Amino acid sequence: MAENLKKVVVVGGGIAGSQVAKGLEDHADVTLIDPKNFFDITYARMRAIVDPAIAERSLVLHSDYLKKAKVVESSVESAAATEVVTTSGEHIPYDYLVICTGTLFQSPPERTTKLERIEEIKGQNRTLMEAESVLIIGGGPVGVELAGEIVTDFPDKKVTIISGGDRLIEFLGPKASRKCEKWLHKKGVTVILKDKIDVNDNLAPPNFETQKHVELKADAHFLATGKKLPTKWLEASEILKEHVAVNGRLKMEASGTCQVEGLQNVFAAGDITDFKEIKQGYLAGKHAAVVVENIKKLIASPDNVKLSTYKPLNTPLGIVSLGRVLAVSQMPFGTILGRLAGLLKSKDLFVGKTREALGLKAK
Ligand SMILES: Cc1cc2nc3c(=O)[nH]c(=O)nc-3n(C[C@H](O)[C@H](O)[C@H](O)COP(=O)(O)OP(=O)(O)OC[C@H]3O[C@@H](n4cnc5c(N)ncnc54)[C@H](O)[C@@H]3O)c2cc1C
Repeated sequence: MAENLKKVVVVGGGIAGSQVAKGLEDHADVTLIDPKNFFDITYARMRAIVDPAIAERSLVLHSDYLKKAKVVESSVESAAATEVVTTSGEHIPYDYLVICTGTLFQSPPERTTKLERIEEIKGQNRTLMEAESVLIIGGGPVGVELAGEIVTDFPDKKVTIISGGDRLIEFLGPKASRKCEKWLHKKGVTVILKDKIDVNDNLAPPNFETQKHVELKADAHFLATGKKLPTKWLEASEILKEHVAVNGRLKMEASGTCQVEGLQNVFAAGDITDFKEIKQGYLAGKHAAVVVENIKKLIASPDNVKLSTYKPLNTPLGIVSLGRVLAVSQMPFGTILGRLAGLLKSKDLFVGKTREALGLKAK
């Protein structure tokens, strides 16, 4: 890489970070830092449990889509004004820093290689195949999508889903929840609401007890519970600690430039931003596109540029797949459940589309 190119450090190689690194690698000296050697297209995680073959395409090695950017397989533990420090002890300098550390959906440690992750998925699949009854803990989109996958591919398995909320998929409106619950009932799924299972217990099939002391039996269980923000390193960083909101996310410039509030050369994209909207991958992609545009503009003309802006989504929109054909979707024109909603997502779960956006073959 030529010496006069600006240095861009992208922290986190998920939906937003992969897109930022790819979008800037022809314009800057880009380093992507991620503890994993692959980008996980999260949308396909639940399908992979019933059909591990999809993981070959939904787990994408960073080295497959990045042609020029350098990849450092480590985590960032702190950031200063001109460099970040990784847990592997590297000091990596930057002109522009982009924070895309997202949300952790699995308990740490995450698998760090694609091979390990594929083995883990195959293990989950074996557990599922051997079970006649399955308990899914968590009734958000992840739990519901897993239930949908199981009852579609294995209609004889008995599925129970438990959620502490008043309704399933609470990130969408009550109409979406009602349609989804009705569909699950029709498929024989037992839905338990307003009760919980303590996931800190040493959970082991076949016996489970809820907080309301209801005893449940299942041959296997899957966790689809809360998310964790990886904020420790933000709070440990001289330049960032002031900019962490009470909810653990990064405070963003109100103008929507995707810069972290008050920091000219630090950007953020994806779930880590405190934009007032639901946290979704398709929105992370939109933030990433604004970050790419703005860093290109700043590289071309550091002073006095008119930066592009992002407008947070004020009405939650989303599609929750229910197996391979159907979905429930909340769109501006209404909430529907069926094949039409499924057409947009359920067959390939945006895997091909996401791969193509990174310059790879869909299949
Ligand atoms: C099962 C499932 C299904 C989903 N389905 C959909 C869907 O259908 N549609 C949709 O729009 N959204 C969906 N989502 C939500 C979507 O996945 C997230 O909104 C999206 O991944 C956020 O992107 P991100 O780039 O902010 O973070 P992520 O994609 O989570 O990536 C964060 C990256 O940062 C890395 N990282 C974390 N800390 C550090 C550190 N200190 N140093 C270096 N790297 C670090 C992580 O290893 C990871 O690679 C789904 C989520 C799940 C779990």
